[in-house]
Amino acid sequence: METILVLTHVDETGSALTKASLEAVSAGVELAKQHTAKLTIGILGVDSEAAAGAVAATGARLLAATGEAFAQPRYATDAAACEALCRAAQASIVLAPGSSRFTRVAAVVAHRLGGVIDTHITALSSNDSVDATRWFYRQRVEATISRDARPWFLLLDAGTHAPFAGESGAAQVEAVAVTLPTVRTTVEGLRSPMRDAQTIRPDARLLFVAGAGWTKKQPDGQIHVAEAGELILAFLRLSGASLGSSKSLADQKAEGEQSVLPFLTHMNQVGQTGSTPRHAKGLSTCCHGEEPHVVGWRFIGERRAISLDPNCGWTRGKADVVYIADAFQVMAKVNALLEARS
Ligand SMILES: Cc1cc2nc3c(=O)[nH]c(=O)nc-3n(C[C@H](O)[C@H](O)[C@H](O)COP(=O)(O)OP(=O)(O)OC[C@H]3O[C@@H](n4cnc5c(N)ncnc54)[C@H](O)[C@@H]3O)c2cc1C
Repeated sequence: METILVLTHVDETGSALTKASLEAVSAGVELAKQHTAKLTIGILGVDSEAAAGAVAATGARLLAATGEAFAQPRYATDAAACEALCRAAQASIVLAPGSSRFTRVAAVVAHRLGGVIDTHITALSSNDSVDATRWFYRQRVEATISRDARPWFLLLDAGTHAPFAGESGAAQVEAVAVTLPTVRTTVEGLRSPMRDAQTIRPDARLLFVAGAGWTKKQPDGQIHVAEAGELILAFLRLSGASLGSSKSLADQKAEGEQSVLPFLTHMNQVGQTGSTPRHAKGLSTCCHGEEPHVVGWRFIGERRAISLDPNCGWTRGKADVVYIADAFQVMAKVNALLEARS
């Protein structure tokens, strides 16, 4: 019989579990139900009390590695804490969010426990054993993996499970002692880019995609790149959307052909040779909707597009709603409405 451990960690507030951790908790609860397995949740952070309360309703055994050493993500201390949590839980299946904090240490923890690990898991299912699903070859091939080796570590992709949302309650937490290694890294603080510079926001509900049309000659025979940049940044600021780009737009910067949008990099590129983000909704603007771009929209729930071209790819069944309109005008109006509302 399987014993399931869900590893979780707190967010930057130091007391609440991250959304991705709560998603892993949901996955663990579901899997434990399917296997009538024992569920344990391990919490890593400076303080576990509030975090534990948020998952008390699972009825799981709660373990915590807490203390100042875990206030900041750090390879040596996080690896030691996760190892201690795993040894205390004696789990055969270890689920964890594929966050940067856990992605950095999960492989070494699996190795120290003599286990195996798979990453980018998008779904878990059960027949007699546990099956895990992930995508390969740039999201073209979906595979279902099962393994006999235990403990089996599975890092879950964010956005693939609903975050656990049970009633908060009093929780009994067992403190797990961690033998700290020699610590050579001191975290002095965090430096984050300005809000406007952080255009890739995986947790946003909306993906806003900018296409090359923003930099093309417009009906007045002129290009309006500065205006395009202002409209896009204003929309991102007002809506909190994440910014995606078509390849044609992202490439222009690399080739330096003309002045293009300075806040865009290839990290924003969505598509076959770009990313495949997960958002509830997507709005494409000034983009033709060609197949190599639209394959990157596989995990976008509701798709809308604004294009001048009534024959663009979006109108050929690739979007739910297409506005045949000038995106400069539409986005100026949308921004004004959002501004008025805020
Ligand atoms: C191997 C390979 C891999 C590729 N990988 C990717 C990838 O990962 N991602 C990707 O994006 N592409 C990829 N491509 C390129 C892809 O095929 C398209 O060339 C690219 O997506 C086109 O970008 P675009 O639609 O922004 O530009 P364009 O094709 O230039 O389209 C611009 C659109 O903007 C519209 N427009 C102009 N002005 C306005 C306005 N004022 N209002 C509204 N609409 C307006 C035009 O009507 C036009 O439809 C790949 C191609 C190959 C061969």
